[in-house]
Amino acid sequence: MKCPKCGVDLLPTERHKLKVNYCQSCKGMWFEQVELGELEDEVFDFGDRWKGSLFLNSSPTTDQCPECAERLQRFQYRFYDLEMEVCPNQHGYWLEADEDTRVLELMKREEGDLQRKLLAEDKWAATLHRMRSGSFFSRLRDRFQR
Ligand SMILES: [Zn+2]
Ligand SMILES: [Zn+2]
Repeated sequence: MKCPKCGVDLLPTERHKLKVNYCQSCKGMWFEQVELGELEDEVFDFGDRWKGSLFLNSSPTTDQCPECAERLQRFQYRFYDLEMEVCPNQHGYWLEADEDTRVLELMKREEGDLQRKLLAEDKWAATLHRMRSGSFFSRLRDRFQR
């Protein structure tokens, strides 16, 4: 699997409790879609709240999906101003260097006390987990096709 930015091999690694494919050159990360049970996937159905635009500003990029070489679409997740690129064929997300750390810092600041700092990583993992579900992907995709 090659980095969409620099073409070097991505290495499987663990960051903030999450398994990612990591580029040692540009420090970017590829998050693959997770396989969720149908029931779990349904829990992540945002329903009406989805219409309040969870993501903004989608635009095509020249980067290619490491799995299918399709052009990635860049979008902004409303919470935490998280910017990501996504494969329209639902293979996964590309995250730039330290973008995950930046969001974690925001989550930690939001929560304040020491005990809750420990929870930020779980919250990040849960956010990513949800975004990698099939239902999130298909909604994202619908949005791109408009
Ligand atoms: Zn790279
Ligand atoms: Zn793909």
